[in-house]
Amino acid sequence: MKNCFALIPILLVIAIMVGCQDQTSTTAKAHSHSSQQKDHDKKSKPNKTQEEKKQKDQLLAQAKLSAKQYDYQKAITLLKQSGISENSDIQSAIDTYEKQKKNLVTWPDNSKIPHLFFHSLIVDKSKAFDGDAMAQGYRDYMVTIDEFKKILKQLYERGYVLVHLDDIAKLNQEGKMVYQDINLPPDKKPLVLSQDDVSYYEYMKGDGFAKKLTLDTGGYVTNTYVNEKGKIIQGAYDLVPIVDNFVDKHPDFSYQGAKGIIALTGYNGVLGYRTSKSAYGPNSDKPNPHIKEDQEQAKKVADAMKRSGWAFASHTWGHLYANEVSLEQLKKDTYKWRREVEPIVGPTDTIIFAFGSDIEGWKQYSSDKYEFLKSQGFDYYANVDASKTSWSQLGPDYFRQARINVDGLRMRGALTGINDVLEPFFDVERVFNSS
Ligand SMILES: [Zn+2]
Repeated sequence: MKNCFALIPILLVIAIMVGCQDQTSTTAKAHSHSSQQKDHDKKSKPNKTQEEKKQKDQLLAQAKLSAKQYDYQKAITLLKQSGISENSDIQSAIDTYEKQKKNLVTWPDNSKIPHLFFHSLIVDKSKAFDGDAMAQGYRDYMVTIDEFKKILKQLYERGYVLVHLDDIAKLNQEGKMVYQDINLPPDKKPLVLSQDDVSYYEYMKGDGFAKKLTLDTGGYVTNTYVNEKGKIIQGAYDLVPIVDNFVDKHPDFSYQGAKGIIALTGYNGVLGYRTSKSAYGPNSDKPNPHIKEDQEQAKKVADAMKRSGWAFASHTWGHLYANEVSLEQLKKDTYKWRREVEPIVGPTDTIIFAFGSDIEGWKQYSSDKYEFLKSQGFDYYANVDASKTSWSQLGPDYFRQARINVDGLRMRGALTGINDVLEPFFDVERVFNSS
């Protein structure tokens, strides 16, 4: 080993790494070679201190992230249980977080938390607004990537912080839905974000949207996109990776790691993968020969999304008007979602009604449809109501919230003075691209 220290630095690093591995793998068997062992220990000492410093830095960084996302208790517990809590750096971090924790205030009214939602973002305006049959729909229901980035920035500047529905209310042990404390600094306010129909539907092909969600070589969620030259490229071409990047840069935009909710149908598969057995299976009209691989890949993407703070919701399998269909149709559709979508994204307790078509009016849920959906595990319900900044209902065993659609229609409405519901969130004039 001695000669190793005379070698060029790169070799030295490799030698130390190998030496270190050797040591750990042989420790258990090395009792009889005590002199050799001592020799070994002496040489790896500087390495051990480095390793300790690295571990300490990692620990501090992990605690710092939790603290930035307002989970001071998690940060403090992590540091206290580290086994090196007497270290001065660790101790001073604990003191800081104890102090900052005292600045938090509990959000005064969980019934008044807004919820904004988006559809797939338009990457290429010239393709989306090319005058084909879909162009008006895109103009009405979607926003561009540039517009979305401006909206995110303004939401952040105005103090909004992303929370999940179960941060707002949760079932207790008796099965009763109860509000949860949301503890934020006085200048911050909670907001729920969701995105509907993240399926990259067949009809969207060639219209300037991302092709699918996928993983990059580092295992991070990204999009594939077919560019003007017909080449498939990877990058942040839709809401999920754009929000991921934004939270990486501004961790304090997320409450304890929360990001958004992704509402999925099933009829065209999910996340850009043609995974539906009924639509693309061997006995279907348009069989997908790679359906198995696509299902596996979509599951990997969904798992990575869940790990990084995203949640999934049912948007009904067939994009149904839940209010208009019969109970039988709703049952059939729900079973189909659970058969085809749940194996990929996992079980969900949230239903985000397609077309905002809620099963009942504003009074407390009591219908057979509700009883059925509740029996299928749904505790959170979301409809659409853009007439006010927020609306929600704490039922005995469910939580229901209204969402505001942020799209071309809403922004044009704001500009022409038809409605001002977006006013608290961002300045439409600074965001809207009239093309
Ligand atoms: Zn939808």
